Amino acid sequence: MIPAQFDYLAPASVEEALAALAEHGDDAKVIAGGQSLLPVLRMRLNAPEMVIDLGKIDALRGIRDDGDAIVIGAMTTHADVLTDPLVAEHANLITKAVEHLADAQIRHRGTFGGALAHADPAGDLGAPALALGAEFVIAGSGGSRTVAADDFFVDLFETAIAEGELLTEVRVPKHTGWGAHYEKFVRVAHQWPIVAVAATVRGSIDEARVGLTNMGSTPLRATATEQALAGASATEDGVREAAQLAAEGTNPPSDLNGAADYREHLARVLTGRAVLKAAGA
Ligand SMILES: Cc1cc2nc3c(=O)[nH]c(=O)nc-3n(C[C@H](O)[C@H](O)[C@H](O)COP(=O)(O)OP(=O)(O)OC[C@H]3O[C@@H](n4cnc5c(N)ncnc54)[C@H](O)[C@@H]3O)c2cc1C
Repeated sequence: MIPAQFDYLAPASVEEALAALAEHGDDAKVIAGGQSLLPVLRMRLNAPEMVIDLGKIDALRGIRDDGDAIVIGAMTTHADVLTDPLVAEHANLITKAVEHLADAQIRHRGTFGGALAHADPAGDLGAPALALGAEFVIAGSGGSRTVAADDFFVDLFETAIAEGELLTEVRVPKHTGWGAHYEKFVRVAHQWPIVAVAATVRGSIDEARVGLTNMGSTPLRATATEQALAGASATEDGVREAAQLAAEGTNPPSDLNGAADYREHLARVLTGRAVLKAAGA
């Protein structure tokens, strides 16, 4: 289908974009890579009168070292995140997840910030962001505020970004030297995950952080598993019991790809695999 008619603005700065958002209110929608928004517009699930394109705002693009964190601009494409040496060195879990995100064409258009702002519970970036304790920098007319990953994902397709605000960058605390693995379960290649597990591990195993994709309306931490993994040995026997706790506190959907109890089973199996691979076992 063809989208409903809309006007189009391409501001050159965050300030101009915020002014346009303030002027047009809920008649406006921002577009980043368009990989999720354009299908929504084409299906006429949303029909904004004004589309504000962030593509000309260079300040929103790029990855930089900021001491104990790396900072990823919202408009950085998945392809640029995938090949970035800072991300690979200090937040390798993100590199591992982006390797499995969609296909090369979508990775060249889609953006890190767009995917996180879209907040699809099956999106591949939420669980790694949560596991790494990322912080989201959100700009509005009153200035910028920082929201912890635990508070950023509110519900299905809903985040802490309010009307009139923009996600500008994501700060990811450095996890230098931590092992990482993203275990994604799909029926065919380049699909959204039925379930996926993001695991990052210090030592073998001193500390583990585990995020779950598509096990609820938002990405979730497998906190019972994380606690049980502290001090566990990086062997199948060593992680088995902890992996069995992975579905605790989750609320997975049932759909054509699998029932909720099947997803719980997947979470347990994939957690075991992800943790062992992250630990290099
Ligand atoms: C065929 C196909 C397969 C895909 N497979 C996967 C997959 O396997 N895994 C996966 O994770 N993703 C997948 N995607 C989605 C892909 O990751 C998109 O890049 C992502 O969901 C949206 O990013 P975008 O930059 O294209 O955002 P857009 O589509 O431009 O925007 C998405 C939403 O976020 C809002 N938004 C964007 N940027 C900002 C911002 N800076 N501040 C505030 N709001 C903002 C927009 O208003 C819109 O509501 C797939 C997409 C397609 C079309």
